[in-house]
Amino acid sequence: MKVFKFGGASVKDAAGVKNLAQIIKSFDQLELFIVVSAMGKTTNVLEGVVKAYIAKRDWAEVLNGVFDAHLKVLNELVDEHGDGHEAIEKIKHYAHTFLEQDNESEYDFLYDQIVSIGEILSSKIIAAYLNHQGLSCAWLDARKLIHTDNNYRAARVDWDKTSALCQEAWGKKEAKLVVSQGFIGGGDHNRMTTLGREGSDFSAAIFAYCLDAESVTIWKDVPGVLNADPKYFNNTILLPNISYREAVELSYYGASVIHPKTIKPLENKLIPLNVKSFLHPEDTGTLINKNTSEDSKIASYIFKENQVLLSVSSRDFSFIVEEHMSDIFNRFSKHKLKINTMQNSAISFSVSVDADKDKLDALIADLQRDYAVLYNDGLELLTIRHFNDKIAEELAKGKEILLQQKTRHTLRMLMRKRG
Ligand code: ASP
Ligand code: MG
Repeated sequence: MKVFKFGGASVKDAAGVKNLAQIIKSFDQLELFIVVSAMGKTTNVLEGVVKAYIAKRDWAEVLNGVFDAHLKVLNELVDEHGDGHEAIEKIKHYAHTFLEQDNESEYDFLYDQIVSIGEILSSKIIAAYLNHQGLSCAWLDARKLIHTDNNYRAARVDWDKTSALCQEAWGKKEAKLVVSQGFIGGGDHNRMTTLGREGSDFSAAIFAYCLDAESVTIWKDVPGVLNADPKYFNNTILLPNISYREAVELSYYGASVIHPKTIKPLENKLIPLNVKSFLHPEDTGTLINKNTSEDSKIASYIFKENQVLLSVSSRDFSFIVEEHMSDIFNRFSKHKLKINTMQNSAISFSVSVDADKDKLDALIADLQRDYAVLYNDGLELLTIRHFNDKIAEELAKGKEILLQQKTRHTLRMLMRKRG
């Protein structure tokens, strides 16, 4: 069997769902496990519902808008009494009842109980349409397949339980096709959990791992993994084949094409990952597997805007690394700030992080109780894999470099535009 994952952009409207069905039809010999994200920007809208609810603003109108939009798509795909309508009504009823009853739960818990609806809705609609097209498929509930802890918004997978649940469900199903959801899981007491934003790729990898899939294909709106984000660079090049290692490095440095957690489970079982265009499904795209021989052929450029450089120094001239490092790291972790680059001198430790204002303010206030803290904002971080000096020089032209790190394969520069 193979796992196919379709992200929000690929199923953003009725035309997207029809295109998905077209792709599935062209693989009619295969047993497929289809993982779908919420349609378009639904997850963002549902986040807005939760925020409004917490702030005691009107949430019902926005929530109803989500259901109306989904019903509209469904009506374009199947006739009015076909499958799917009842499912959408049920989900709507659940959401209203839940929010009307619950008034005091904390944000992360509420978030998961509401935001996970996006994937339930999209998968119900897609399953209804595939069945309507004669592509008989089973709808499986990812909350009953991916078992997690109750760490809401960043739930951790219980791999043994998840493997057993997936295998049992796969063994029982009769259709050749299965449709399930990305991003969501189930914690204890049947609570819904989510795996972190953009986590549907990771879900696809979890299902593939647990079912020993032959391969995973992620269908995207780009031709595959490119050597740079077309938003920032002209003349991007498709990477036809990279290793798991290279893919992990690229996504860690900020290439957004695949979710960083996706690679590990696949690498552990040597399951190949294809990244292909849902607009041009006949094109080969990118293959990610254990072959490392192509990795250094093409340089890749990863650009991160809105970086802040924080310099944390001891006030009494004590050495930073020996005496304070673990304390400083603990505070970063407590405020959930991910470090992008780090460097130390005798009494000071400098790190760059994404400019997430709320988290940063809290972290800086915390650090200032014991350390001197300086910061520079409005910076950009450029990472070049398999760099050559000439290109690096060109890209840094006219910019002030505040921090630079070079290893054999990777060059990183934290820069500010001059003037
Ligand atoms: N729908 C979720 C999100 O937008 C998960 C995903 O798309 O991968 O974050
Ligand atoms: Mg998405």
